[in-house]
Amino acid sequence: MASREDFAMTDLFPQKGHDHSRCVDSALREAEKVCDAENARFTDMRRLVFSLIWKSHKAITAYELLDAIQAGGQRVQPPTVYRALEFLTQLGLIHRIESLNAYFGCDMPHHHHLGQYFICRQCGRVAEAVDEEMSNAVRKAARQVQFRIEATTIEIKGLCHDCATH
Ligand SMILES: [Zn+2]
Ligand SMILES: [Zn+2]
Ligand SMILES: [Zn+2]
Repeated sequence: MASREDFAMTDLFPQKGHDHSRCVDSALREAEKVCDAENARFTDMRRLVFSLIWKSHKAITAYELLDAIQAGGQRVQPPTVYRALEFLTQLGLIHRIESLNAYFGCDMPHHHHLGQYFICRQCGRVAEAVDEEMSNAVRKAARQVQFRIEATTIEIKGLCHDCATH
C-alpha cells in the first residue's frame, strides 16, 4: 500500500463507486500485521466487528454493529461488541468519533497520528487528516498556556467533495 504522503489531500475521501473491496482487503492485512506485532489475537468476533466497520467509510455506532451481527444470525450481547470495539480502538485499528459516538476504520494504523477527522454531514463518511502543521499548531498553542496534552481529537464537520459538488 502506498503511504499516505503520496496522496493529495483531495484523495482523503475515496471517490464514490471506487473499488471498496481493495480498501477492505488492505485494512484486513494491516490489522493482521498490527495484531501480530502486538502479540494480540485477531479473534473471530474482533474480525467480524472490524469487517462490519469497514463495510463503508462511514462511521457506525455500536448499536448498528449489534444489529448487523444479529441480522447475520449470531446471538451476541452488547458487552461482547463493546469489548471488541475497545480492543480495536486501543490498537488504533479504528477510531471513535466522539460527537457521533460512532466508529470508523483507520487506514494507516501503523502510522502515529493525532486525531483530526473530517466528517461529512451528508454521506456520513469520515476521513483522517494527516497534517503535521495542524498538529504542530495545537502543540504550540498548548505550550503557550503550559498545557500538557493527553489526547487530541479534532472533529471537523462539513461536506466531502462528492456531496459538495452533486
Ligand atoms: Zn473504500
Ligand atoms: Zn487513524
Ligand atoms: Zn459526503
